[in-house]
Amino acid sequence: LNRRLAEFGTTIFAEMSALALSTGSINLGQGFPDTDGPEEVREAAVRALRDGRGNQYPPGPGVPELRTAVAAHQQRRYGLVFDPDTEVLVTAGATEAIAAALLGLLEPGDEVVALEPYYDSYAACIAMAGGRRVPVTLRPRDGAFRLDLDELRDAVTDRTRLLLINTPHNPTGTVLTREELTTIAALAVERDLLVVTDEVYEHLVFDDAEHVPLASLPGMRERTVTIGSAGKTFSFTGWKVGWVTAAPGLLSAVRSAKQYLTYVASGPFQYAVAEALALPESYFEAFRDDMRSKRDVLTAGLAEAGFEVFRTAGTYFVTTDIRPLGESDGIAFCRSLPERAGVVAIPNAVFYDHRDAGAPFVRFAFCKRKDVLEAAVDRLGRLA
Ligand code: PMP
Ligand code: GLN
Repeated sequence: LNRRLAEFGTTIFAEMSALALSTGSINLGQGFPDTDGPEEVREAAVRALRDGRGNQYPPGPGVPELRTAVAAHQQRRYGLVFDPDTEVLVTAGATEAIAAALLGLLEPGDEVVALEPYYDSYAACIAMAGGRRVPVTLRPRDGAFRLDLDELRDAVTDRTRLLLINTPHNPTGTVLTREELTTIAALAVERDLLVVTDEVYEHLVFDDAEHVPLASLPGMRERTVTIGSAGKTFSFTGWKVGWVTAAPGLLSAVRSAKQYLTYVASGPFQYAVAEALALPESYFEAFRDDMRSKRDVLTAGLAEAGFEVFRTAGTYFVTTDIRPLGESDGIAFCRSLPERAGVVAIPNAVFYDHRDAGAPFVRFAFCKRKDVLEAAVDRLGRLA
């Protein structure tokens, strides 16, 4: 393994899902739903396969139907207008979108300011692109993880090329407010920064939280690369269909990198996702409400089991503090949890450069059937 990647080893998701399988544990680690997305969308994929749509290489930027559907979705939902031909790119999941954005936009030595804890592929992709990550740590405040905007401002230097933002935020469940995002936008404009914003959980926002796309804020349309994912929005994480929306110059930089990563992917699924994006609003509401009630089951159960549970306003995840259980090392805790309780979770420490800051936090996924969540909570209740 070369020096750029040596520090990364095996992704935590592979390690923990393998552990769940080998120990027969309930897997609340890796974030994937245990119920597949809508039947009609699966049927749309079958039809595409059968009719021979997408069985050979689709067009490099993605099939026109899907690019048009992504643009229509951004306009309907956020009033953002993108040209499907020059401002929308289909990728092999959001994962490839992140990689292609960083590889296409960074010069060696550029600094990337990212929110810590960060989704694990960010650090590896920044490294592959020859960039330097500069983490800004989210810290617990009033029962949730919050960003300190002064720290964000202080993290920007003359070498900063881009801000890598994620809202709703994995793993903390924080949804950045309109005020916070407006401040981030003003900083980006003032310091002339690009912004890559990972909004894969845009439809999973609960209670009175609101998802505000950074691209919709003043001065941001021209400097923002926005990333979405059908895996998260329609519960088909295995299909690996994602997308990027950005102004033509930025999009073409991302596309330049993407064409040498996978070139294209997921042909027939692209047609199915195009249909999924046109589902009525009732689909998105029911999906969100179902996920919110799952969050409530897991949040209450973990609190009952003795964890301190942070408030989750969006995503698939709740973050807990294990110190009330007399534990302090999340990595050791997660390694022993399958044996002690038959449950798999993710130690947030692996998403930190400042490992100490993340040590006592552990993430549980609630994108699972309620009976599965209840069984997991029942098992965890025997820990104390
Ligand atoms: N970004 C975040 C914040 C994620 O949690 C994930 C994983 N689900 C991804 C990107 C990757 O998404 P995809 O499965 O579409 O590649
Ligand atoms: N995004 C998912 C999570 O955070 C996992 C995706 C992956 O396995 N790379 O759990």
